[in-house]
Amino acid sequence: MKKLPVYVTGDRPTGKLHLGHLVGSLRKRVEMQNSGKYDCYVFIADMQALTDNAKNPEKIRKNVLEVALDYLSVGVDPKKSTIFLQSQVPQLCELTFIYLNLVTVSRLERNPTVKNEIKEKGFKTNIPAGFLVYPVSQAADTTAFLANYIPTGEDQLPVTEQGREIVRTFNSIYGDVLVEAEGVLADSDKCYRLPGIDGKGKMSKSLGNAIYLSDDTETVRKKVFDMYTDPEHITVDMPGHVKGNIVFTYLDAFATPESFKKFLPNDNYTCLDDMKKHYEKGGLGDVKIKKFLFDIIEDILQPIREKRRYYEQNIDEVIQILKDGSEQARIVASQTVKKVRKAMGIEYFEDDALIEYYKNKFHENGE
Ligand code: ATP
Ligand code: MG
Repeated sequence: MKKLPVYVTGDRPTGKLHLGHLVGSLRKRVEMQNSGKYDCYVFIADMQALTDNAKNPEKIRKNVLEVALDYLSVGVDPKKSTIFLQSQVPQLCELTFIYLNLVTVSRLERNPTVKNEIKEKGFKTNIPAGFLVYPVSQAADTTAFLANYIPTGEDQLPVTEQGREIVRTFNSIYGDVLVEAEGVLADSDKCYRLPGIDGKGKMSKSLGNAIYLSDDTETVRKKVFDMYTDPEHITVDMPGHVKGNIVFTYLDAFATPESFKKFLPNDNYTCLDDMKKHYEKGGLGDVKIKKFLFDIIEDILQPIREKRRYYEQNIDEVIQILKDGSEQARIVASQTVKKVRKAMGIEYFEDDALIEYYKNKFHENGE
């Protein structure tokens, strides 16, 4: 059987998954999975989550299953993707330890993603060592499966770049064993980095500014209707600003021509640009654009919630999926570790040449 290209991607169990994940990464991975053209690995990055949550392991423990439920509810299919739990694949730790010798501390400190997250998390100079090196463990997560692709949000691209550097360094020293993986972004740049509902920074589970895939209808309604629009757009007739208006930023990510047909059939908009022009001219109220956004998001979330409910009622099945996936991941990762050890020459007891070398050396000395 021809070997398919591999993709690997994961999420930290620091909270439930949100709309940013859906448009930034989940949709792409489900599409790639369903194309049947890839060997797919999707994992819950609990070890990585512990790098900045060491003192709060309960938070991570409580979110592992939540992320698994989110995966299954958006269509990650255990028959088509290997879904696993990072901590259950110790081979990843072994690779991390090896790769740590191939990067410098200053290179890690310069990584824009890491730099930004250190600032966001307020570590100042008290950066957990494990957190600083998480791009190295991420390189282990992907190279262990010889990934070619990493479906990801834009914020992680510098981490995937650092992973490629590690692969190049490893291969140049030890021979061509590892594979360089390319980040795969969403189809539209409007989805690369969905902002939070407060309009500040990206939507993130750690920042409390998210619409979660599992939020109920009333929660979604409240979050959408509480969003800021244009503070100068006080009455319906006034011209409004689209730029910096978070409702339009979300419509950019979610509205399709079908959304207009389905939810605004009596208006003359054929696409979002028509609606934006109307808003800028005046005569289009904030309640109407928010209602439109709410309808679109609800339409997306309804089937996801339904699927989630099934798995919520069948937790044993979810646990079995994670167990089986982790077992499969261990098998594949250990094959890579074996190749890596061999290339590095640390498979001592299977290295006939080295054993011969010792024998000859002491034989000669003894003469
Ligand atoms: P945390 O705050 O714990 O870091 P997070 O919300 O940033 O959580 P991650 O688990 O770090 O989520 O990210 C998982 C994947 O989702 C990554 O590929 C990331 O790039 C992508 N992603 C996260 N947030 C967004 C967003 N707002 N827009 C687009 N993609 C996103
Ligand atoms: Mg993150």
